[in-house]
Amino acid sequence: MSKIENYWADDVEVLIDTQTLDDRISALGQEITKDYGGLEPPICLVGILKGSFLFMADLARAIERHVTCEFIAISSYGDSTESSGIVQITRDLTESIEGKDVLIVEDIVDTGLTMSYLLENFRTRKPRSVKICSLLVKPENAQRAVDVDYIGFTIPNKFVVGYGLDYHAGRYRNLPFVGVYCGQEI
Ligand code: 5GP
Repeated sequence: MSKIENYWADDVEVLIDTQTLDDRISALGQEITKDYGGLEPPICLVGILKGSFLFMADLARAIERHVTCEFIAISSYGDSTESSGIVQITRDLTESIEGKDVLIVEDIVDTGLTMSYLLENFRTRKPRSVKICSLLVKPENAQRAVDVDYIGFTIPNKFVVGYGLDYHAGRYRNLPFVGVYCGQEI
């Protein structure tokens, strides 16, 4: 493989490869399809931007019933690798979730601060139900107990990138796998 195809290799070690991601997301899609039963009413999938954009796209296609797709953008980290604990909605939902079955689609639950803030916020909007599906969870770093209904993978307390997750202002989101960032701190 030429260097250009491997532009990430000096800084990223593969943790979960593309095939393993595909297989797990298909299984999650089947589990969700089964749990909600029937075709209606649609599950309102709420993707947390920007990190969940690839997971959301693949998960939505793995669910074999009606869904709607909403997005909300939240900032909790700035450009650092440490959770700041400060959570801010930078782009809100465009549709009401009142009376709907909401499934929050997240890239990673780390300290749990973002998710517990979001859950509290969503409950005030009176959805019929709220569940959480997170591709990754890092239990070692938990500061708030968050009940994640659907977990893709439980991972060690390492800073990961790829498949939506970034480092240094958006870099590596487009990697088709999840890897541990092992390059220099920028
Ligand atoms: P929490 O509030 O649970 O600490 O963090 C949630 C958010 O922090 C995630 O949505 C994600 O944006 C970011 N985050 C947490 N751990 C990592 C990580 O290992 N890599 C990256 N790129 N972002 C992370």
